[in-house]
Amino acid sequence: MPLKQERRVSIPWMGKEYIELLGQSLSHLGINIQLPPRTTEKTVQLGVRNTAEMVCFPLKPTLGNFIEALDNGANTLLMYDSQGQCRLRQYFKIQEFTLRNMGYDFEMYNINYGNILPVLQKLSGASYARILLELFRYYGKVKRVDKKKERWSRRRPNIGIIGEIFTCCDERINYGIEKKIEKLGAKPVNMVTLSSFIKESFLRKMHWPTRDRKRYDRQAEKYFNGDLGGHGRENISHLLELVDNNIGGVIHLLPMSCMPETSIEPFVNTICRDSNTPLLRIPIDENTAEVNLETRLETFVELIKMRGEK
Ligand code: SF4
Repeated sequence: MPLKQERRVSIPWMGKEYIELLGQSLSHLGINIQLPPRTTEKTVQLGVRNTAEMVCFPLKPTLGNFIEALDNGANTLLMYDSQGQCRLRQYFKIQEFTLRNMGYDFEMYNINYGNILPVLQKLSGASYARILLELFRYYGKVKRVDKKKERWSRRRPNIGIIGEIFTCCDERINYGIEKKIEKLGAKPVNMVTLSSFIKESFLRKMHWPTRDRKRYDRQAEKYFNGDLGGHGRENISHLLELVDNNIGGVIHLLPMSCMPETSIEPFVNTICRDSNTPLLRIPIDENTAEVNLETRLETFVELIKMRGEK
């Protein structure tokens, strides 16, 4: 095992601001963080070449991030482990298996609600109290980033974004969709943010008091037979809140072959149809053409502008 000062720890990208802030927080704990190069076409292709064709898309760029991190000298990898129902629970296993088969020598740690403190303690040597304090500081910073993302406009048509979290959060994966919507004169209202994810995945489980969306959550539960995994249930809850507040239109972003998001498609379609809310679904994978996405987006925003806000 490498000495602490020799460790070079890397994490995959999921939104530039989120991961840079996370890197800073882990550095404050004394962890030697080495972020991978930002995701590019080359990163995605590295992942595509080394994974199954039909696996859900986020596995490909995150594997590519790890390959580039290891090539740049990282020797310890951290990967989130949802412990949930969909493939995200298996990502770190598949990534570790693939990277070892490719000949890389490294240590890998999965991070989940149950082990985050011991893993970060092992990597940093910091006390649990210090780690918790740093994690709450990080959450506060992320909440400030997300406030802007979730804000509604009074002057421009608002367009809600729901979908799979990686696709909704990473601007290199969704081709900067929020900026594109803004350029077209509308306000993106991104409901799938890292702070909402932290709230769902960590704080609720720790019985930390969080602002409740009980009414929409209860309504959403009627669509499901228990937990679906990913953010399927949360997205229906977000959608119900958006249409209840007369959102101008909704974009459903999802990676190709995402189990939870494809499962909720009929519910999303029906809720939007019944509330007369325009819906644009954008599946994303390595074959998505940015120009095609832009054309669909332009037409969609124009349609919403023409309708006026409901
Ligand atoms: S949420 Fe969808 S894309 Fe993400 S790991 Fe689960 S199945 Fe794959």
